[in-house]
Amino acid sequence: MQKRELRRYFLQLLFSLARLLTYFCTYNNDVIKLSMQIILGRDEKTHKLKAVVDGKTTKLLGAEGSVNDFVSRQHISLDVDGTSGSFVLKNLKSGNQTYVNGQLVVQKNVTTSDRVELGAQRYLLDWKLVSEVLPKVADVRPLKKVWTDYQTDILKEKISQGRFNALRGGVGVLSASSMAGTFVPGAGGFRIPLLAVFVVSLIVLTIISMRNAKKLPLKQQKRQKDFQRHYVCPCCGYFFGSVDYDVVMRPKDTCPSCKAKLVK
Ligand SMILES: [Zn+2]
Repeated sequence: MQKRELRRYFLQLLFSLARLLTYFCTYNNDVIKLSMQIILGRDEKTHKLKAVVDGKTTKLLGAEGSVNDFVSRQHISLDVDGTSGSFVLKNLKSGNQTYVNGQLVVQKNVTTSDRVELGAQRYLLDWKLVSEVLPKVADVRPLKKVWTDYQTDILKEKISQGRFNALRGGVGVLSASSMAGTFVPGAGGFRIPLLAVFVVSLIVLTIISMRNAKKLPLKQQKRQKDFQRHYVCPCCGYFFGSVDYDVVMRPKDTCPSCKAKLVK
């Protein structure tokens, strides 16, 4: 008995470990790759803005001679979380001076709408330059609703079309049977009301068929147009096609047009 319980606990432990491992693997793939660290400073030779991404890639930004001597070679670091659009800014040495919206800071959360100045001569950081080294990320989460709404609308239309067909069938039967009724021997005085029912049902049938034939293609066209306008890459406007959200927006995927990483 004890042995069996022990085995069960052991299996549960293994299962939990496996789940934990799966969680971290997914986490790594989906989130960590989108974050990066950028160290910004002055390039000695060119006096351009130097960006070192994740301690590996170096990129020189802006015009030659644009960065003054008061900016250190390693002045600030920006920790970038690709999904939120905000950064953690750190002043790297106590001798550096970094201002955010006029305030001297050591560390602060910033976005591209903040005014960041470096050094005693207040070199103004141009976010447009920084964006050249930022990861290109497309937040496609709102597109899930666009896809489900589109599908729901198609389904609703199918249901209402089914109802319409049933109604048309019913009126058709009424029309045919009233016509047949007039031929029954001995219909006598019922002949005129039956004929009236036949004429009215025929008119109703024609009107509802005509209205449906007119309205339906217009509605379908509008739906398709709306869908094509909204089911697109937020970065470049590329239309993803009538493909299921879960299929087209896999977390590791990138936009086929602008190569932005899709955040799901
Ligand atoms: Zn794109």
